[in-house]
Amino acid sequence: MAKLYFRYGTVGSAKTLNLLAVAHNYERQGKRVLVAKPALDVRDGARTVASRAGLSREADLVLGPDATLPPARLRGVDALLVDEAQFLSEAVVDRLRERTRVPGVPVICYGLRTDFRGRLFPGSRRLLEVADTIEEVKTTCAACTRKAVFNLRLADGRPTTRGPRVRLGGDGAYLPVCYAHYRAATARASRQRSAFPAATRSTTPRRT
Ligand SMILES: [Zn+2]
Repeated sequence: MAKLYFRYGTVGSAKTLNLLAVAHNYERQGKRVLVAKPALDVRDGARTVASRAGLSREADLVLGPDATLPPARLRGVDALLVDEAQFLSEAVVDRLRERTRVPGVPVICYGLRTDFRGRLFPGSRRLLEVADTIEEVKTTCAACTRKAVFNLRLADGRPTTRGPRVRLGGDGAYLPVCYAHYRAATARASRQRSAFPAATRSTTPRRT
């Protein structure tokens, strides 16, 4: 039986670059890999798996929320590599888990642990629950030298805590930050949001 790996990290931790390097190493040894991505991730095109460093390749499989992953599709494959795994449905994670048993292909998933509010993505939650091996892909905070553990969302260059959970963005839409800088930036964002109502209240006559 093969293993299911979950390699998680923040934005900018070179997860996709790591995936592409693993694929390259397998192929250099004459082994066969399949690269997969969730259908939800269309940032760089429906089939493209692209790293911020500029390297990319086409995905062999695009996994919708009900993807069945027929075992025959994995015959003769030495590893299945999955990018942006936070966007997988729980059902697909369970199917990936099953494929490590029959036909016994190692599955290596790369993805974010949490969204911009610091909450687990459903795909990441399921991977944390069922993976054999959980590894962190590390990077440093954009504002200091501590390890980044949060993904700070920017809107027009400013930190924000608002909007839908999934908003695909390239460079600049999210920053990797430590807890201290996440707290400081999101507290500032909510102060700015409440500035207008507070000013309105301050002009109303105070009861004495
Ligand atoms: Zn920091």
